[in-house]
Amino acid sequence: MSVWRDRFAADAAAWQSAGLKRRRRVVHPVSATRAQVDGTVVTAFASNDYLGLSRDPRLIDAIAEGARRFGAGAGASHLVSGHHAVHEALEHELARFADKPAALAFMNGYVANLSLLTTLAGEGDAIFSDQLNHASIVDGARLSRAAVNIYPHADTDALDAMLAASAARHKLVVTDAVFSMDGDVAPLGALLELAERSDALLLVDDAHGLGVWGPQGRGSVQALGLRSDRIVYMGTLGKAAGLSGAFVAADQMVIDRLVQRARPYVFSTAGSPALAHATLAAIELVRSADAARERLSRHREFLQRLARFWRPYGLLASDTPIQPLIVGDNAMVVRIADALLQEGVWVPAIRPPTVPAGSARLRITLSAAHTDEDIDTLGTALSRVISDIGPVPA
Ligand SMILES: *Cc1c(COP(=O)(O)O)cnc(C)c1O
Repeated sequence: MSVWRDRFAADAAAWQSAGLKRRRRVVHPVSATRAQVDGTVVTAFASNDYLGLSRDPRLIDAIAEGARRFGAGAGASHLVSGHHAVHEALEHELARFADKPAALAFMNGYVANLSLLTTLAGEGDAIFSDQLNHASIVDGARLSRAAVNIYPHADTDALDAMLAASAARHKLVVTDAVFSMDGDVAPLGALLELAERSDALLLVDDAHGLGVWGPQGRGSVQALGLRSDRIVYMGTLGKAAGLSGAFVAADQMVIDRLVQRARPYVFSTAGSPALAHATLAAIELVRSADAARERLSRHREFLQRLARFWRPYGLLASDTPIQPLIVGDNAMVVRIADALLQEGVWVPAIRPPTVPAGSARLRITLSAAHTDEDIDTLGTALSRVISDIGPVPA
């Protein structure tokens, strides 16, 4: 396999020299915000566990109880014999949570997006996708065989023009509700208006809004009070809900079509019944987490006040728990992240291709499980590291 070895070695060397080589750190979790990494315990600002539910004893008990009552595995795909009563109950609850007529659970958000885009759109149709949408949307759009139109980030005028110029009969607009690497929020109200005007569907990926926004944490769409049968809502359960999984909530016809035709749904074993039971518990915990959501906002305001000590770098404007500090240079962002880790603070360095070239960043994520002292520790460590190794302010 020498030609293959040559290719793999050349690519690996190129990634290394471009500062793009990635490595997985082995994590031994200690709590929702602390982990042992490379032998030392650090405070982590590195997960999407916004409400701290991943370590919640009530959720851990629910997994165990679910396994005892309903079994560890489903045994087959949903359309064969794997659609258990607990899956059915979960779908009803997810629909109620999202204020939609019906819902369908998926193993994760990546697969939910692939399923949605490939099942709703096809050859001859047109997809309109925000430039900063998640990779799973990009991949789903490609796989759908529809024409893909990428509009500039959150630019509703540009989208308006693209919709008007498209001759496709079936149009589908798709957006992250909260952009995962920038933390900003899509103009959902304006997008819905455009969708109405051109009889398009509007797919909203609320991976980072569910649990954080809206009454009872019921997400970005309900936060804005938007109601429309053309909104197809996708929420994930591995972030604020503390587990893993995802769901689509929509009009009954959309859900029926997914059940019939979404290949990742049809040709895949149903999720663990234990997890379905735990997800019911997670939804209940999300609904009742108002205190955690308030703590999260206070942490964000505190962090934003500390940011003036991190010049010349600045936080992107974000009202969400995702608070990216733009550094720009790939090698520099890694040096800063490594130095922070030495100080006992873990913030991931995010580089291309996850973000556009020249916009490498520290992606700080906050959790309600953080204490005020944790935020203070991050602020102090980051000031020290930047003054030690960062560029001289202009
Ligand atoms: C995390 C994420 C996904 C993927 O969800 P998983 O359940 O982790 O597969 C999809 N879309 C967005 C915007 C995300 O941030």
